[in-house]
Amino acid sequence: MAKENYLSLRGQLRSDVTFARDPDTGEITRAMFPLLVLRRNIKDRNGYLAPKFDRPIISTSDPDMIKAAETLRHYDIVDVKGTFLTQHSKRNKQCPCCGAINVIESPIQIVNPVYIGVINDKFEDDTSGTNYLMKCAEISNIAKIIGRVCTPTEQIITGETERGELYCRYQLAVNRKLYVLDSIDEEDHADYPLVYSYGKTASDDSQVLQQNALIYVDGYVHTVVLDQEVECAECHNNFPIKTQRMNLTPYSNEYLRDFKGDVLESTHTKQEQEPPEQCEDTELQ
Ligand SMILES: [Zn+2]
Repeated sequence: MAKENYLSLRGQLRSDVTFARDPDTGEITRAMFPLLVLRRNIKDRNGYLAPKFDRPIISTSDPDMIKAAETLRHYDIVDVKGTFLTQHSKRNKQCPCCGAINVIESPIQIVNPVYIGVINDKFEDDTSGTNYLMKCAEISNIAKIIGRVCTPTEQIITGETERGELYCRYQLAVNRKLYVLDSIDEEDHADYPLVYSYGKTASDDSQVLQQNALIYVDGYVHTVVLDQEVECAECHNNFPIKTQRMNLTPYSNEYLRDFKGDVLESTHTKQEQEPPEQCEDTELQ
């Protein structure tokens, strides 16, 4: 199965880069930063400006990428090329009731960079960065990914957003190797982005997708912040935490193989469509 896991982002740094250091040597072991990026189609159906921003997190332990990240400054316009990476993570959260440290385990989704470069380091505020991004929305948030649907067919969810638009939700398994023979043992070498499609694409997805279907997503990364309640392991009170999730949303999908019936001649005609109206709470149900 051919591999495609390609993210290309141009955005503005709205904070400084965070570095993690080895406590013994002081050496930087990881660099992390959120990048403010803009989806293409900045106008709504009525022609009014309705820009939609996302904040994917770029995270790297690669020495060359850390070096590149060290040159970045707040407000810089930055190009990042990378891949969509999913991992399990553990975070320590202190219970506000009893003070106990709780270890929260959850999957995280980050951009694993292979290139980081500064495009413009002259900006001194948010506004100039936003204005700049409005001119390059077409290249600010690009995701092209080939993956197999790993959600069991009966759990592929379709529904309506609060605005009454159809959405479809499913998860992909995306191989990390360049060329991998189809195999059932890909768990250790794959990433698992969650996909939310909308409108016409969601309608098509709901009709033809099934578990194991191979699809090509031409879309963007879509970040949402979730408010969650967790139960303290010590005092059993619930307390709120915030988590960010990065999903994928297609502008269009191509159904490559093993979709329902697999009889459709082709869905390769691109369906250029308006950016979907997203409703961040309903889509996450
Ligand atoms: Zn507690």
